[in-house]
Order: sequence, then C-alpha cells, then structure tokens
Amino acid sequence: MSPEFILKEVTDNLAKDFPSDFLTVAKHTDLSTLAWGPLQFRAPWNVAFGRTQNSNVTVAGDAMHPMTPDLGQGACSALEDAVVLARCLNQAHTTATDNRQWVENGLKSYVNERRWRVAGVVAGSWLSGTVHQGGCGDQQWWSRTTRWFRDRYLYKFVMPKLVDFVWTDCGDLGSPFTQGVKST
Ligand SMILES: Cc1cc2nc3c(=O)[nH]c(=O)nc-3n(C[C@H](O)[C@H](O)[C@H](O)COP(=O)(O)OP(=O)(O)OC[C@H]3O[C@@H](n4cnc5c(N)ncnc54)[C@H](O)[C@@H]3O)c2cc1C
Repeated sequence: MSPEFILKEVTDNLAKDFPSDFLTVAKHTDLSTLAWGPLQFRAPWNVAFGRTQNSNVTVAGDAMHPMTPDLGQGACSALEDAVVLARCLNQAHTTATDNRQWVENGLKSYVNERRWRVAGVVAGSWLSGTVHQGGCGDQQWWSRTTRWFRDRYLYKFVMPKLVDFVWTDCGDLGSPFTQGVKST
C-alpha cells in the first residue's frame, strides 16, 4: 500500500471528521514513515505457555507479546523487556561456570520473569478494548452486555486494578550496567 494512499485514506476517510489540528499534523507527516498493517495479538495463554526461547535465541517487544493498543503498554512492555533481559544476562554471566550455557540460562530467567507479566498485560489490553469497543457494536445484545459491564464494573473495579498492575517497577539493569539506577 503506497504511503500516498495511506495518507489519503486517513485524511479523506477515516479521520475526516477529526479536529482540524489533527488533520494538519497528519498532512505534514513524512511519507517515508507511514505504514499500514493489521493489529497483531498473541493470545495470553500462548504468551504464558508458548515457545519464546530456543537455546540462545529469544524475542522481546512486539515479537514476543503483540497486544491491542488499548492500555498503551506495548512499547512500555518492550522497554521493560530490555531492562529485564540485560539484568538476567548480566546475572547469568556473573554466576556462570560453563562458558557455553550462560546465555541460555540468562534467556531462560528472562523468559520466566516476563511471560506471566506480559500475558497479564495482553489480557488486560484485550479486555479494555473489547469492552470499550463492544459498546458501539451493531449486535444489540453484545452492545448492551458490554455497556452494562463497562458502567457497573469496568471503571469502578477493573480499571483501577489494571492501572495498578501496569505501573510496575521492573528493577534495575544490574551492575555493571548501572549502579543503582532504577527503571520503572
Ligand atoms: C495504534 C497504536 C497505539 C499505540 N500506543 C501505544 C502507547 O500509547 N504506549 C505504548 O507503550 N505502546 C503503544 N503502542 C504499541 C507500540 O507501538 C509497540 O508495542 C512498540 O512499537 C513495539 O516495539 P518493538 O521494538 O517491539 O517493535 P517495532 O516498533 O515494531 O520495531 C520493530 C522494528 O523492526 C524492523 N524490522 C522488522 N523486520 C525486520 C527485518 N527482517 N530486518 C530488520 N528490521 C526489521 C521494523 O521495521 C521495525 O522498525 C501502540 C501501538 C499501536 C498500533
């Protein structure tokens, strides 16, 4: 899909009723930075139980846990991955007895530390998006059910817990990368 087509589709169609400030920004976008693709989602149980490491190879960020954008946590989680990965590799290296195994051990610790947390964030994002968007769907019963859940439970009970959950301290990088610098 050409960048010109993407820009036209946004300004003439998808966002045509957006405030003019938005359209001005969109029209000044550098065409070389535009891309169009479907939102990707990896089911939380697949993140929790699926394969995320093979020997000395692993994945981080969207490659490990693509999620819907409804909690604004995809890039935040990718940054947390980077901190935890660095710390786990550093710890494995420091305590290594076998020169060949330490990378694999470090990656194993990283995957174990991350998989349940990101599975929770993926599930939370999906829930938030499904309930918010479900309320405007065509299907009456589903719209009514999601609106009922949203108004009674989502804002009062679920969202505060989700916000608490995503605010995390993923720890520091571990010496020798940093001396006590915290990443949150
Ligand atoms: C609409 C929307 C809103 C969002 N809002 C937020 C938000 O508010 N807060 C937030 O934290 N996150 C948000 N996100 C999610 C965030 O954009 C992603 O989670 C984040 O960009 C993932 O970073 P990444 O480095 O893992 O992957 P990417 O940013 O996708 O980076 C991967 C890079 O690898 C390159 N690449 C791919 N294949 C190859 C190859 N074979 N060789 C070389 N390079 C390659 C790609 O070109 C790309 O530059 C949002 C996402 C969307 C879609």
